[in-house]
Amino acid sequence: MVRTILLGPPGAGKGTQAERMIEKYGIPHISTGDIFRENIKNGTELGKKAQEYMNKGELVPDDLVCEIATDRLKKDDCKNGFLLDGFPRTVYQAQKLDEFLAGRGEKLDKVIDLEVSDEELMKRITGRRVCKECGATFHVVNFPPAVPGKCDKCGGILIQRADDNEETAKNRIDVYNRETKPLVDYYEKSGNIVHIDGMISPDKTFEDIVKVLG
Ligand code: ADP
Ligand code: ZN
Repeated sequence: MVRTILLGPPGAGKGTQAERMIEKYGIPHISTGDIFRENIKNGTELGKKAQEYMNKGELVPDDLVCEIATDRLKKDDCKNGFLLDGFPRTVYQAQKLDEFLAGRGEKLDKVIDLEVSDEELMKRITGRRVCKECGATFHVVNFPPAVPGKCDKCGGILIQRADDNEETAKNRIDVYNRETKPLVDYYEKSGNIVHIDGMISPDKTFEDIVKVLG
């Protein structure tokens, strides 16, 4: 059982590590970004609201995000732990999460801070391609599909996420440095944050995470 957060800038590889972690620890992967994208795809009210912000690389308003995240955490499958990815993203969200967990007599075991340089982030984000059908992720240089533009797993068409263009990506990184980075200090105070090098290979990064989580 482990309650953990993956912190780190856009493009740090949170999604890749999350996939491996949920398999190893048998905990649900809660990605607020995925929840929003799913809602956009299905044309819900929530999706319409979130889309305005996401397409500009801005943050979705705190209260909306907090409600979505805590609703998800109330589900039964989170009783034995969870992996939060992309939430919290502001100090306000972190405080709300702490309050929510405290109200249930729970607390975070570990906060994992994935560290990658801004320059590397831009390369990763703008080269990222995702499968329209199954969501698998590729990279035009680092991890190209066998057939260009086609998913190795299901044959689906690969597309670029709406917010992965250069301009929006730059803004997302700025927003991260301004709004989310202060969370490192916030969790430094509670003493349960660990810093993991996200510039080495995905396998090596995962090994380091497992060392920390046990
Ligand atoms: P990445 O980590 O690659 O930027 P995510 O999929 O986590 O991507 O998030 C994509 C977008 O969804 C963000 O840029 C933001 O607009 C919105 N979003 C996701 N989570 C949050 C959050 N906790 N608070 C505010 N906005 C969020
Ligand atoms: Zn696919």
